[in-house]
Amino acid sequence: MEIFHLSAECYPVAKVGGLGDVVGALPKYLNQLGHQAKVVMPGYDNKFAKENEFDVMHQGQLRLGYFVFTYTILKEKTNKLGFELYLIAIPELFDRPNVYSYEDDTERFTAFQVAFLNWLTETNQVPDIVHCHDHHTGLIPFMMAHAPIYQQLNRVPTVLTIHNGQYQGWFGFDKLNYLPQVSSSRLGFLEWNGIINPLASAIKCAWKVTTVSPSYLDELSEKANGLENLLRFERPKSLGILNGIDTEVWNPNTDELLPHTYSTKNYKTGKAKNKAYLCEQFNLDPTKPLFTFIGRLVGEKGADLLPEMCSIALSRNPNEINILILGSGDPHVEHQLTQLLPFYQGNYNAYIGYNEKLAHIIYAGADYLLMPSRVEPCGLNQLYALRYGTIPIVRRTGGLKDTVIDIGDGGFGICHDQTSVFDVNHSITRAIDLYYDQKLFDQTRKTIMQIDHSWEKVAEEYIAVYQSLKN
Ligand code: ADP
Repeated sequence: MEIFHLSAECYPVAKVGGLGDVVGALPKYLNQLGHQAKVVMPGYDNKFAKENEFDVMHQGQLRLGYFVFTYTILKEKTNKLGFELYLIAIPELFDRPNVYSYEDDTERFTAFQVAFLNWLTETNQVPDIVHCHDHHTGLIPFMMAHAPIYQQLNRVPTVLTIHNGQYQGWFGFDKLNYLPQVSSSRLGFLEWNGIINPLASAIKCAWKVTTVSPSYLDELSEKANGLENLLRFERPKSLGILNGIDTEVWNPNTDELLPHTYSTKNYKTGKAKNKAYLCEQFNLDPTKPLFTFIGRLVGEKGADLLPEMCSIALSRNPNEINILILGSGDPHVEHQLTQLLPFYQGNYNAYIGYNEKLAHIIYAGADYLLMPSRVEPCGLNQLYALRYGTIPIVRRTGGLKDTVIDIGDGGFGICHDQTSVFDVNHSITRAIDLYYDQKLFDQTRKTIMQIDHSWEKVAEEYIAVYQSLKN
């Protein structure tokens, strides 16, 4: 099957979070199973674009309201990512370093989607499946189904994967003229609560909707930033598929970003060396358990709890634990985390920013990874932590609930029910006890490194979805 994946992110081209990891891996594994999965994304002005070579495949001109623009379809020359990568270059809109958070994001991602469909129709391509990821590509199923100018695509099955239902890409009907003409009787497919809602539109129009874990699908029926009723209504065509991890990138035995690689055979010394490296870099004590957090510093991740949680944990257990935070996001939380630095020197540190290499070293060198998330559609961090022998401490929600079983229930992680300072600190106390129960601690670390969350298995589930739509 020929499958086009449409996304704003794709690792290593451009990544902000888990969406990038998924779109950078799933197509590669679909191809290994004999399909032709391709990725189409905007052409940002970033390192990947500068360091790689591209062929020009097509050029076209389009109109977004009164704004006329030229788009160019570029194809990465080598297919070294394991799939064909297409970038849609629209200089006025995407010639910038970041993926999101520009005032004209509506214009940027609408232009991207229209350009994609225009390219397919102008070159007479009719793929087997068009797979859209999150709201940035959410208008595509609507346009394919209802816009007469894309009529030749209206029998192509569309799949929407919801990686994060909080963000929906809302914009007003005053921008309806950005989209190709459709009959007014079809406008209801764009709308939710009186405005254009690209995520809602994709939930209505895609042939199949998937979420990145089964529990997240259940939770969305109760809490989906206004889309609960819609998701309940569309439940019959919806399915939760747990994300995999790219074990070619995330393998402690071959990971080139680690100062010391290791496997299940030498994990104790391997992890200890990475921990020593981290502790030296961040002025921490390698003899004490190392608790870490990696992620966006936003409410969804429970990051607002971190400052108070750290100061309570470090005050209650003076010189008994280390905490290292890697993240960026809410400036207030960033500031609070930085302010703690002078109080707990030698046991606490924070790196405010995004650093892929450091993330890998933390997964390898930490003893525990904290994930007190309020919402976690799947969560990849805990899967990377498991693979690297770092025990996850998670709140039971979404994908965390589906992937981490508490050690008290015969599992391998530490779980709590609330996103609260009290719950996290209680889990830290349990983790300190576990750390000093050397045999159980080591046995658990070895066990978790062997849990299989590879994409090989998960890619088959997506193929089953695609096949069900082709029959
Ligand atoms: P989300 O997509 O909601 O941010 P996920 O758990 O699905 O969360 O994926 C997060 C991904 O982003 C992981 O690969 C994680 O290692 C990475 N990540 C998040 N914040 C940072 C950071 N500050 N530096 C490096 N990597 C980060």
